[in-house]
Amino acid sequence: MTNLLLVEDDTTLSLGIVYSLEKEGYKVDKVNTVESAKNIIDDKKFDLIILDIGLPDGDGFELCKYIRQNRTTPIIFLSAEDEEVNIVMALDMGGDDYITKPFRINELLSRIKAVLRRYNKTLLGQNLQSGDIKVDLLSNKVFVKDEEINLTASEYKLLLILMKNFKIALSRLQILENLWDTEGDFVDDNSLSVYIKRLREKIEEDFSQPKYIKTLRGVGYMWDMEVVS
Ligand code: CA
Repeated sequence: MTNLLLVEDDTTLSLGIVYSLEKEGYKVDKVNTVESAKNIIDDKKFDLIILDIGLPDGDGFELCKYIRQNRTTPIIFLSAEDEEVNIVMALDMGGDDYITKPFRINELLSRIKAVLRRYNKTLLGQNLQSGDIKVDLLSNKVFVKDEEINLTASEYKLLLILMKNFKIALSRLQILENLWDTEGDFVDDNSLSVYIKRLREKIEEDFSQPKYIKTLRGVGYMWDMEVVS
């Protein structure tokens, strides 16, 4: 049984979410304040937490910080449309994904599945496959429709960061930090935009309408296609 916690103070919305999640077979606890969330988090173990940002006695960030002190429980933020800047902060603070209100419940369900999948299973195969793109992790070769393409080391690393986190929103900082980890060199924000542009030119059929690397305006990027290994 997968245990979810929903922290949301909009009663109508939260009833709808709980109904749909339970129909999918999830066990759901719901609370509507920061305080009650802290209490139940201390008492029970959850597989994933859905966190509204604006709460009557505080906000989702405060809760996220609290959770991250000693837990790695996946967190999906629910945000109002005008909270893009906050969302960057939420992801940088340890949130795993976010979804903007209003959303379709199916969208939330697929995000939950993606985040749980990422937590429960890392991609361990020797190849990654996504749409027409194949990566051979042993030889570091990348193929588009079975044709090998040439990527620079940074482009290749960027591709792996995006693919390994497929269907999950990544902030620019999260991507940059991952690039620094592996590269050792300083990669600034402008370089990231350039890398993304070059990578798109190499892998996207129509790079003005990318189907793999989606831009999340004001936030960052997401690999928008299933990846299997
Ligand atoms: Ca709220």
